[in-house]
Amino acid sequence: MCEKCRENSSRPFTSRSIMPSRRSFLLAASTMGLMLTRAAGAKEKKAPPKPGNVLSPDAALKRLQEGNARYVEGLARRHDFKHEREALVGGQNPYAAILSCADSRIAPEYAFDSGRGDLFVCRVAGNFADEDMIASMEYAVAVLAVPLILVLGHEGCGAVDATIKSLKDDKELPGHMQSLVEAIAPAVKAVSQQGAKGETPGDTLGNAIRQNVIDNVAKLKSTTPLLSAAVEQGKLKVVGGIYRLGDGKVGLVA
Ligand SMILES: [Zn+2]
Repeated sequence: MCEKCRENSSRPFTSRSIMPSRRSFLLAASTMGLMLTRAAGAKEKKAPPKPGNVLSPDAALKRLQEGNARYVEGLARRHDFKHEREALVGGQNPYAAILSCADSRIAPEYAFDSGRGDLFVCRVAGNFADEDMIASMEYAVAVLAVPLILVLGHEGCGAVDATIKSLKDDKELPGHMQSLVEAIAPAVKAVSQQGAKGETPGDTLGNAIRQNVIDNVAKLKSTTPLLSAAVEQGKLKVVGGIYRLGDGKVGLVA
């Protein structure tokens, strides 16, 4: 043993000699703990199945409009449903929610050239927001983090037309259909009493369809506590559109 080694081996452990290694250990343990915590956090918040669907409200609206433009032009994309099925087994993260009329001529996934997992679509004849629709929209926004809601009415809506006739003739619809009339009546009455924003004179049906969309956009925007808070925080945009039957174009009205 050389003099140097003997000197070191004979030296008793001191706090000075042990401190660096203990410090290193503590630092490593703390780093490991941080890594484990981050790993656990990452596992809890798993990556969205469609990363391209994580958008701002404005970007989501732009994507809807671009999809509609492709649909109008007959240039819809070919969707790989097999691949999409696999990606969506574990979850969903749609980029927009749509409150649409149930009319069979209005198919939101086609109209916006979107695949599965892209649109959270709720449909009811007359596209109005009742308690169940609001609850579904809250789920889309608060749980699925959807940045955009579109209320989608359309030309020639039978539900709105039936409401106009029911009120005019003071005659209730049979079965459960009167509930549609009650939901749509405020828009029809507003149009006949005051005139709709941007209305076309003499076009009662068209004006009522438009007013119904405008009213339901306002209702969703102001519904507390979840939707109104998301709007105020800039996380959510609520817009309204009318689908044109002839060419499939969706024009924004709210
Ligand atoms: Zn309709």
